[in-house]
Amino acid sequence: MRLVTFYSGGRARPGLVRDDRVTDVGSLYSSVNDIVAEGEAALERLREIEDTSGVPLAEVRLGPPLVPSNIFCVGWNYLKHFQEGAMQRDEKLPDHPAFFSKALGTVIGPSDDIPAHSDVTSSLDYEVELTVVIGAPGRSIAQERALEHVFGYTVGNDVSARDVQRRHGGQWLKGKSLDGTCPLGPWIVTRDEIPDPQKLEVVSRVNGEERQRSTTDLMMFPVADLVSRLSEGMTLRPGDVLLTGTPEGVAMGMEVPRYLAPGDVVECEVSSIGTLRNEVRAGPGP
Ligand code: MG
Repeated sequence: MRLVTFYSGGRARPGLVRDDRVTDVGSLYSSVNDIVAEGEAALERLREIEDTSGVPLAEVRLGPPLVPSNIFCVGWNYLKHFQEGAMQRDEKLPDHPAFFSKALGTVIGPSDDIPAHSDVTSSLDYEVELTVVIGAPGRSIAQERALEHVFGYTVGNDVSARDVQRRHGGQWLKGKSLDGTCPLGPWIVTRDEIPDPQKLEVVSRVNGEERQRSTTDLMMFPVADLVSRLSEGMTLRPGDVLLTGTPEGVAMGMEVPRYLAPGDVVECEVSSIGTLRNEVRAGPGP
């Protein structure tokens, strides 16, 4: 099942995507967050909807598929991306995943513009990431049961201001939290449609030119391991999202980095899910 948040009459509505049409389910649930919180019972109810007279998907504007309660992220999770970043500074391979978060004001929809923030950064970079949406809450979740706590998957672009990252002590929060720097979507694909999250392709393109291409089986810490470790002593809640790290090919790793500039179009794609397509726009934010 594919769940979207779309705009109708100026309001955000939850919708179900079938055959490239969107069925408004706003009479049953006020938001996709409510569906995520109710979990399997909500999905059962939505499966019974027979009305297929939706609006063509191409005619609606999509918002972020849900309003995340937290945006958790993973640092180095693909060996070659680690090599193009941390290994340049002689860091050794980690035994544990590096976690950080992005501010909630970063979230934008799958086709919204990414602000260039040229007044604070001159090294805006893209990072395509398989993104997990947490459903059932849990703390200290065993790895074997971790996927049961996943409601579904979406695509994220962990847009990062590298110079801001570096000048604030090398920590990640500030450089990854500029307004509008976390496109999410285009929808949430429920877990039942992706039985193995380690068999997906992740690709990014800038102005049609491929920059990143990898597969999730190359993750150093697979999804179940990430969910388990992140939840150690820390409750994960419905609506929390987890960006699972990006593969090699970011601008930062190039000999002469080709950072994002106003007018650039960034596409981030994960197979079996979909594609984000965001233009970089001059200016400070939404
Ligand atoms: Mg990232």
